[in-house]
Amino acid sequence: MTDGKDILTFPRQAEFAKAKACLDRLSLAYTVLSPFPFYGRVGVDSLVMDQETRVKLFQEAGAQVVSSGWVDYQPAKITVPDTMPPAFEEDILGTCSIMVMAPCVPDVTTIRLIAHIAANLSDVFPYLNTEMVQAMYCREVETFTYMDAYRLISVYDRRITIAKADELVDAWHTRENIRCRVNEIWGRRHSIEPSWEMRKKPPAFEIYKRLPGTNCRACGEKTCLAFSVRLWSGEIKPSLCTPIFTGEYRHLKAPFLEICSSLGFSEVNRPDEDE
Ligand code: SF4
Repeated sequence: MTDGKDILTFPRQAEFAKAKACLDRLSLAYTVLSPFPFYGRVGVDSLVMDQETRVKLFQEAGAQVVSSGWVDYQPAKITVPDTMPPAFEEDILGTCSIMVMAPCVPDVTTIRLIAHIAANLSDVFPYLNTEMVQAMYCREVETFTYMDAYRLISVYDRRITIAKADELVDAWHTRENIRCRVNEIWGRRHSIEPSWEMRKKPPAFEIYKRLPGTNCRACGEKTCLAFSVRLWSGEIKPSLCTPIFTGEYRHLKAPFLEICSSLGFSEVNRPDEDE
C-alpha cells in the first residue's frame, strides 16, 4: 500500500540534510526512514513524503538538492536492527553511495539500485568465484553476478547493481549482506585458491524438464515452459511453482532445487514463506 507517498534517497548524508532543511523551511510534512545503526555503512537517511511535497521540494530547492531518485513508498517488511553492523579488519568495499534508485522493469512493485563504491573490487572476484560456486564470473568485463533469493546482484569493479529489491530497507539489507560477504571472503583470501573459471547457466529446457509439466498456471505463467524461461532469466523466483513446494509434486522438489542452485539462487524460499 503506497498511500500516494514517495520515498527519496540520496547519494550522501549531506544531500539528505539539505533536502530536510528545505522541507523544514517550507513547513512541509515528511518522515525520515533511517538506516542507522545497522545499515549505516550502506545507506543514508531517506525521506518519505506525499507526491505534492516532493514536487514542491524540487521546485524550491532546484539543483541544490541531489537525489538518487524516488519510488512509490512501501512499508518495509523488515526492521533496521538496533545494533552496530559487523566490523572487519579491512573493509574492502569502502564507502558505497546509491546513485540511482528507480522502479524495476518490468516489475514496478520492486526497486532497482545502482551504487558506486570507492574501492576497485576486481582483485576480490577470483576469491568470490571460488567461494560462491553458484555465481557467474566474467573475467573479460569484470562482473560477478548472483541471485540473493529473488534479487539479482551484479558486482562490477566499482559499482554494484541490485534488481528486484522489495523496497529501500530490503535494499540496505541486501547491500549489507554483500558488504559482509565480500569482506569476510577477502579476509580469508590467503587460505583460498583463487579461480578465474567462467561457469555457464544450464539451459532453460533443463529447468522445464524438472517441472510438473501440467501448465496449471499457479505460478502466474501460462505454461511451465514460460515459467522455466522467466526463471532462467532471473525475472521470477522458484517458489512460485507451488505444486513443487506445497502440492502434489513435492517429489520433484529436490531435483528442482538442485538446478535452481546452479542458476545462482542462494535461497529458494523467501524468509516469510513456508518450506
Ligand atoms: S505452477 Fe509449476 S506446474 Fe504450474 S504452470 Fe507454473 S511451473 Fe508449471
